[in-house]
Amino acid sequence: MPNANDKNSLDMDRKELIRLKEQCLAQARQYQNQIDLMDKLILSNVSDTLIDKSNRDWKEDFSHENGNYRNNCGKCGNHFYGHKRRVRCKLCSF
Ligand SMILES: [Zn+2]
Repeated sequence: MPNANDKNSLDMDRKELIRLKEQCLAQARQYQNQIDLMDKLILSNVSDTLIDKSNRDWKEDFSHENGNYRNNCGKCGNHFYGHKRRVRCKLCSF
């Protein structure tokens, strides 16, 4: 019966497509896990290595009276050097 054979081959194609789709999904999940891991590593290293810590300092304040205080940034929480009235590090102020 040609009709039955056509239907069977269609079912086979569909099963094969579903199987291939599952394989793609599994790979996509693996990639997503790797991307998530890279994001974590990038973010955890940013404050220590990628950003020069001294970029947070207000170097132009240093020559002023009270210009070389160790402050904590109200936004990022990192310490920086600058005028004692500064509330944010330089990186967070722009
Ligand atoms: Zn900051």
